[in-house]
Amino acid sequence: PLPTIYAITPTYSRPVQKAELTRLANTFRQVAQLHWILVEDAAARSELVSRFLARAGLPSTHLHVPTPRRYKRPGLPRATEQRNAGLAWLRQRHQYQRAQPGVLFFADDDNTYSLELFQEMRTTRKVSVWPVGLVGGRRYERPLVENGKVVGWYTGWRADRPFAIDMAGFAVSLQVILSNPKAVFKRRGSQPGMQESDFLKQITTVEELEPKASNCTKVLVWHTRTEKVNLANEPKYRLDTVKIEV
Ligand code: UDP
Ligand code: MN
Repeated sequence: PLPTIYAITPTYSRPVQKAELTRLANTFRQVAQLHWILVEDAAARSELVSRFLARAGLPSTHLHVPTPRRYKRPGLPRATEQRNAGLAWLRQRHQYQRAQPGVLFFADDDNTYSLELFQEMRTTRKVSVWPVGLVGGRRYERPLVENGKVVGWYTGWRADRPFAIDMAGFAVSLQVILSNPKAVFKRRGSQPGMQESDFLKQITTVEELEPKASNCTKVLVWHTRTEKVNLANEPKYRLDTVKIEV
């Protein structure tokens, strides 16, 4: 059988949330054997996301965990607790059975994913990597590959990172997640941009990485960001005759 792709998506309430999730679901719906783990950054699961998932037509799991207020500051990494909640769910779900073939991938809700990316990551044996477009102050970042091995990083930002790669640039086999039960994203001591490195060094080495996307020469995922919406003309109290979810 095809290995299941588990996509962990942290998400939070904001005017564009449903639009982002709609676009993401439209992509995921075209991927065979994909399980979407949607983790809300909230004290409870919201009605908006619950209703949305119920109609999304995708195998999914709906989790929530709020980011402590002290971590909601500019310059601090985002969605640490949410990604860990997704990891915990995966480990729990597979604790009694021998790991079914599976691949985990962290899919932020605002990025752009080509369908080819999922074909590439599905053959991940341990940890696979590929280029990411529109990130790090450059058109792309990518792992540098020689003789089929990662030997360094093409990046314009903090080249000292042990794994100079964005969250969207790697996938991990379920087996590796289960055999490293303590591997999580850390708040303590984690500087901006070091989340990926901190996590990856708990489960792999640079030498072990499996380059995808034609030896990391193709961009199949883009770190797009959505513009903040202008709500300057939003009325202070409801003027419309109906209440509409956006
Ligand atoms: N996110 C979240 N809570 C927050 C901010 C972000 O759950 O307070 C989610 C967001 O929905 C996205 C991921 O974390 O899936 C990364 O956030 P963002 O896209 O804002 O980060 P950037 O692209 O700027 O690194
Ligand atoms: Mn983003």
